[in-house]
Amino acid sequence: MKKYDLIIAGGGAAGLSLAFYLSRSVLNKLQVLIIDKDRKDKNDRTWGFWTRHQTVFDSVIASRFSKLAFHSSHHSRIYDLQDYHYNIIRGIDFYRFIKEQLAKLTNFEFLNTTVQGIQDNPDGGLVKTTDGDFGAKWIFSSIFNESEVLRAAQSKLYLRQHFKGWFIKTRVPVFDPGVFNMFDFRTPQSGVMRFFYVIPTSASEALVEYTLFSERLLELRQYEDALRSYIGDVLKVNDYEILDEEFGIIPMTNYLFPASQGKHIVNIGSAGGSSKPSSGYTFMRIQKHVQKIVGALEAGKSPVISANSAIRYRFYDSVLLNILKNHGEMSEEIFSKMFKNNTIRQVFNFLDEEGGLKNDLKMITSLPPWPFLRSTVDLLVNQKL
Ligand SMILES: Cc1cc2nc3c(=O)[nH]c(=O)nc-3n(C[C@H](O)[C@H](O)[C@H](O)COP(=O)(O)OP(=O)(O)OC[C@H]3O[C@@H](n4cnc5c(N)ncnc54)[C@H](O)[C@@H]3O)c2cc1C
Repeated sequence: MKKYDLIIAGGGAAGLSLAFYLSRSVLNKLQVLIIDKDRKDKNDRTWGFWTRHQTVFDSVIASRFSKLAFHSSHHSRIYDLQDYHYNIIRGIDFYRFIKEQLAKLTNFEFLNTTVQGIQDNPDGGLVKTTDGDFGAKWIFSSIFNESEVLRAAQSKLYLRQHFKGWFIKTRVPVFDPGVFNMFDFRTPQSGVMRFFYVIPTSASEALVEYTLFSERLLELRQYEDALRSYIGDVLKVNDYEILDEEFGIIPMTNYLFPASQGKHIVNIGSAGGSSKPSSGYTFMRIQKHVQKIVGALEAGKSPVISANSAIRYRFYDSVLLNILKNHGEMSEEIFSKMFKNNTIRQVFNFLDEEGGLKNDLKMITSLPPWPFLRSTVDLLVNQKL
C-alpha cells in the first residue's frame, strides 16, 4: 500500500484550495495525493463571492462587479458596492489554475478514482478506492454524502438551495455588464423563497439562474418554465439562445457538521460545514477554513478545526432557516427590508459574520420582528436548535 503524508479525498473547491495553500507554505515538500472521481475538466459550476480584499485567485476572476441590483415588489435599487467587489470565478478556470500551480511540484499527485471508504487507524488514515488502498498521516475529505447527512440531521432543519441556470446570448444588447442582479424576487413565491440571479458577462450574454430554498427539488420542466417566463416577461427578452446550463444543490442546514471522522480524518468543504446555513455561500468560507488548517499544520498542531460558525451566528441562521422552511412566502419582505434598511457594508458584514454585536443588532432591528419571534419560540418548543 502506497503511503503519503496527506491525502485529499475530493479535489473540488475545498480539496484543491487546501492543496494550493499547502503548495505555497513551508509544507510544500510533503507527499500529497489528491483523489477525485471526476477529472474536473469541465465548467461544472460558477462561483460568485464578495470581498474587499485581493485574493490568491485574482488572475482567474472572470468578472468583477462594483454594482449590485436588488428587485422585489417591495424594493428595487442598484447599489454601489463601495470598497467591495463581487467576483465571478468559473470552475474550470479555478481547477486549471490550481492544477498548473501544483504541476510545478513533483510531490503533489492526482488520482482519478472513486473513494469507497475512509478508515481511521491508530497511526493515520486509510482511503479505500476502486484502484486500491492508500494511507497517510492525515486525510482531508470533502466527499459529501447527502443521505448520510440527512440521517444524522433528522432532528435539525434541512433545506436545499437548488438552482438551474442558463447562460444565454441575446440578439440585441440588454444587460448592463457593470451590474449583477443578486436577488430578483419578481417571480411567484407560492410559499417558497424563489428568486433569480443574473450575472452578465457582456451586454448580450448572461447567466440567469432560478434559485429556490426548499426541502424538495422541482421537476426539470418547472425550472425551465420559470426561466423562460422570467427572461420573457421580466427581462423582456424573447430572442436569445441558450449557450450552456448549470444545475446545483447546496445544503442549508443547522446540523453541526463534525470537524472530523476520527483522529486523522478531517472534514472540509460543504461536508465540513463550510456552506453558510441561511445563504449557501461557501466559496470564501472554504478559503478561510483551509487556510486555518494549513496554519495549524505549519505550527505542528492538529488540523481538526471546525468550519461551523460561532454560536450566535448559528442561532441567527437557525431562526432564518426556520422561517424559510415554514413561511417561505415571508422571505421577499425580509430580504427587501434587509437591503432597504441597511448599507451594503452592513449586509455583507452580517453575512460574513464579521460586523460585531452592534452591526448584528442594527440588522436584526431592521427586520420585521414577528416572524423572527415566532420562529425562535417554535425552535425552542420543538428543540430544533
Ligand atoms: C453549481 C453550483 C454553483 C455554486 N455557486 C456558488 C457560488 O456562487 N458561491 C458560493 O459561495 N458557493 C457556491 N456553490 C456552493 C459551493 O461553493 C460549491 O458547492 C463548492 O464546490 C463546494 O466545495 P466542496 O469542495 O465542498 O465540494 P466540491 O467542489 O463539490 O468537491 C467535492 C469533490 O469530491 C468529489 N467526489 C465526491 N464523491 C467522491 C468519491 N466517492 N470519490 C472520489 N471523489 C469524490 C467530487 O467529484 C468533487 O470534485 C455552488 C455550488 C454548485 C453545485
